[in-house]
Amino acid sequence: MNVAVIGGGGREHALVRKFAESSKVDRIFAIPGNAGMSDVAEVIHGVTENDFEAIAGVCLENEVEWVVVGPEAPLTAGIVDYLEDEHGIRVFGPRRKEAQMESSKAFTKELMEKYHIPTAKFARFDDYEAARAYIEREGTPIVLKKDGLAAGKGVVVAMDMDEALAGLDELMGEVGTIVIEEFLEGEEFSLMVLVNGEYTHPFEMIAQDHKRAFDGDTGPNTGGMGAYAPVSHIGESHRAEAIEKIVRPVAKGMVEEGLDYFGILYLGAMVTADGVKVIEFNARFGDPEAQILLSMMEDDLGEVLEKVHRKEPFELRFKPGCMVGVMLASHGYPKAYQKDKYVEFDAVRENCYISGLCQDMDGLYMTSGGRVLLVTGYGETVDQAVETAYENVGQVKFEEGELFFRKDIAHRAL
Ligand code: ATP
Repeated sequence: MNVAVIGGGGREHALVRKFAESSKVDRIFAIPGNAGMSDVAEVIHGVTENDFEAIAGVCLENEVEWVVVGPEAPLTAGIVDYLEDEHGIRVFGPRRKEAQMESSKAFTKELMEKYHIPTAKFARFDDYEAARAYIEREGTPIVLKKDGLAAGKGVVVAMDMDEALAGLDELMGEVGTIVIEEFLEGEEFSLMVLVNGEYTHPFEMIAQDHKRAFDGDTGPNTGGMGAYAPVSHIGESHRAEAIEKIVRPVAKGMVEEGLDYFGILYLGAMVTADGVKVIEFNARFGDPEAQILLSMMEDDLGEVLEKVHRKEPFELRFKPGCMVGVMLASHGYPKAYQKDKYVEFDAVRENCYISGLCQDMDGLYMTSGGRVLLVTGYGETVDQAVETAYENVGQVKFEEGELFFRKDIAHRAL
């Protein structure tokens, strides 16, 4: 069969690579793809992820049987509704209504409240003064979130009142609605769940992302500065608790609410003193967790999609050992940063997933985004994987000061 992957980042790079290994898949189209994908996919330059009509055209012309949507923006804008309803094209990804699990924090929080799913206590505000009074009453630490998509950058975790009020000014200045949450403390993990209505298949392997920009989990939140899997210091009992108390009831709750979710549901969870709680849901694979988990996955992704579509039970197999990924980002990210900086990574190309690189006229790679390149390393143990990942990072050439990366990925597992 032919498949199309929508999106142009590292997660999509991992998806096309994984499809390229599939015995079921003949041709792979990457729309718009990126500069790293042409060895494994037909890259459709010039069609953006939000140009649904042009995407449908490519899919129909090339008899694409499955479309897999990587990023959240087209899901929220209704790409699945459009491709399915207007053109009868099968898509792995939730429709607009179901994608609210990610696009509206208020919607998801209300659903969790109704179905008694453990999560941080919250309140929703449209009014600045009321929000301020609430923060002053609750005290700090406290968490403020925009009620919309923000690529991981719409959250302020405020440790004191000055930070909280500055965060309120910043977030409320831009949007109408914010959600204010109780601060939770504990170890975070990411669990990818394949969902088809009430059918759920949680990945057998969990991952851990590093959201903060700088070492020691400091600095602003980002889209993700690195990840690793498995997370062996978070035991199977926590994964089992997440499945029993969160994944199954949320799937059931969605069905009861008339939602028909199909695709990946990403659970961002925290192990607190009071049990495993939901931090957030996303309506798609995490980035960079996808790069790590898909490179550890032994199964054929084409077959996996078919099985989830048929609601068949199965077991996902993962390689033994550990995979660590370190994100190289443009200096200044997640705030303003410069582009067009040269990066050379030929020596470790196989270990890299491109997030934000394009090619100049001579085929040399230049930065085009905030997050640039995920460099991975595999090892039998987490220590070995960390060592390999940083050795591989050392093989990437760039001008000092133009890119930065965290030096402590997987530190919690060491
Ligand atoms: P993304 O776009 O990356 O999915 P997001 O904008 O949806 O992120 P969240 O995942 O909700 O934001 O929050 C980002 C990070 O902020 C979390 O990974 C976590 O580290 C921290 N955080 C969020 N909510 C809380 C909370 N209630 N208590 C403590 N920390 C939190």
